[in-house]
Amino acid sequence: MKRWLITGGCGFMGSHLVRRLLQREAEISLCNLDALTYAGRLENVADCAGDPRYQFIQADVADAVAVEVAFASFRPDVVVHLAAETHVDRSITAAEVFARTNVVGTQVLLDAARRHGVRRFVQVSTDEVYGSLGPSGRFTEESPLAPNSPYAASKAGADLLVRAAVQTHGLPAIIVRPSNNYGPQQFPEKLIPLAVRHALAGRPIPLYGDGTQVRDWLYVEDACAGILAAAESGEAGGVYNLGGGQERSNRALLERLLDLLQRPRALITPVANRPGHDFRYAMDSSRARRELGWEPQVALEDGLRRTVEWYAAHPDWPAACP
Ligand code: NAD
Repeated sequence: MKRWLITGGCGFMGSHLVRRLLQREAEISLCNLDALTYAGRLENVADCAGDPRYQFIQADVADAVAVEVAFASFRPDVVVHLAAETHVDRSITAAEVFARTNVVGTQVLLDAARRHGVRRFVQVSTDEVYGSLGPSGRFTEESPLAPNSPYAASKAGADLLVRAAVQTHGLPAIIVRPSNNYGPQQFPEKLIPLAVRHALAGRPIPLYGDGTQVRDWLYVEDACAGILAAAESGEAGGVYNLGGGQERSNRALLERLLDLLQRPRALITPVANRPGHDFRYAMDSSRARRELGWEPQVALEDGLRRTVEWYAAHPDWPAACP
């Protein structure tokens, strides 16, 4: 029976990954390690809480003592590391916690994984480590790391520490770089859930700058499938881009959401552009297709419908949120 340690399992992507693993693997022991920051919600995994194969540890990944205790008691075979500070806007005004959690926290986990002989360590990174593209081209795994926000820089720093652990210590680690995720249970500070929430309440929806920035959208279940495929059959030391292949400008995306919700497009309200705002992300995922047999399954239109329906059905999620 495999023992999986998931960090950040109370957040958006982590909670989908926890649920997916428990549904898929009959023989599994799963530990969710999460500090429960503002973005981490026990309600996201409430349906898993009574499962005898599941346990939860509240701990900070940057706390080496707490992480050592967790590894010593749970003895994971596989670690999937998602815990992070994730909101670019917050990193612009308060970067220190990003360096602590995303950089120091990753090193603490790498050290523990090495000490405890973990068989596979998956670092969940992001397309943002590559920086910004012009109107054409796509990032490959060989594209240079050129992060522009403190968030992206902290994730790139973590990726370099993972690379060093592979090169120096032979840690069997893999890096996956998903593009922009969306779906149910995403904290409503991010573009899609924020827009849906505001639209449902008839409130203005802020749009940075002229809204021409392009993102490559990936449904959260497709991202989780890619992360698990990499954990199971990725090459140790390998890097895998996981792109949705569904590019939209921010303005076009908001317009489609408003159409789906049958709310006026006039709710879109331009605001000053985000400092250092990347123009475009797009991923070449051919390595993941070739080596992992991974392919996104959910078309953007279908994923947006599912997302909108979920938020409409859960107006009070998460509790106590602005
Ligand atoms: P999220 O913000 O929804 O959740 C982050 C989780 O990490 C929360 O449960 C939080 O409590 C936990 N956490 C934060 N600091 C911690 C700490 N110090 N110790 C332990 N736990 C801590 O994030 P998400 O959107 O689900 O992203 C998950 C991962 O995927 C992150 O590493 C992120 O960089 C990466 N990623 C996200 C996206 C996206 O579009 N959401 C895209 C690519 C990559």
